Amino acid sequence: MISLTDVTKVYPGGVAALGGVSLDVAAGELVGIVGPSGSGKSTMLHVLGTLDRPTRGEVRIDGYDVAALSDAGLSALRASRIGFVFQQFHLAAGTTALDNVADGLLYCGLRRGERRRRAAAALERVGLGHRMDHEPNELSGGEKQRVAIARAVAGDPPLLLADEPTGALDSASGDGVMRLLRGLQAGGTTVLVITHDREIAASLPRQVRMRDGRVVADVRAGAGATEAGR
Ligand code: ADP
Repeated sequence: MISLTDVTKVYPGGVAALGGVSLDVAAGELVGIVGPSGSGKSTMLHVLGTLDRPTRGEVRIDGYDVAALSDAGLSALRASRIGFVFQQFHLAAGTTALDNVADGLLYCGLRRGERRRRAAAALERVGLGHRMDHEPNELSGGEKQRVAIARAVAGDPPLLLADEPTGALDSASGDGVMRLLRGLQAGGTTVLVITHDREIAASLPRQVRMRDGRVVADVRAGAGATEAGR
């Protein structure tokens, strides 16, 4: 599903956020990206999500070589294949949960009625069938994040990228969000999740550890760490 080969990212001004990252993630995996603040986790997620282009190296998503795609091609790849979830939810204020999710399908080429039908189904899947008409300020943090997850998966993308999805939540709500992500993986979605939370990281089947823009370990539950970098 994901293949990064020797990817570097240098921001204008010279900050080398990624210093040669290679990573392969198979379809259906649930992978935690862990590491200290500033280690390049968000940059890697942005590059993986085609929100940002790498300075050097190859990025393949679901078989597509990202460098070979135009901006319009990248937008189409994102709209059809990648769902995003962020720490701060990014829901539209004054807009119901149903419309927040339905609007996420605007670029899928569906009619409004079909968008709303799929949005309602996605909200049911995250346990918010009873909150469809509520606006974000009428929802708890955990509920907002579940709306954001519904929006991310309403179009059935094969890949879900989550940047600290539990970072703004209490532990009970965070557990609910992680249960949802596990359920999505069980349904076949490939899920990458950045987390600072050691307990969450330790509970995941695979952990990719980053430091100073590099992958320093790749650990699978029940197996030893593979030291990266050689
Ligand atoms: P993490 O997600 O692990 O906290 P980031 O990927 O956000 O790490 O950041 C990696 C490095 O890149 C940091 O030194 C950060 O300050 C820098 N950085 C991130 N985004 C930008 C940007 N848009 N412009 C310049 N430097 C950036």
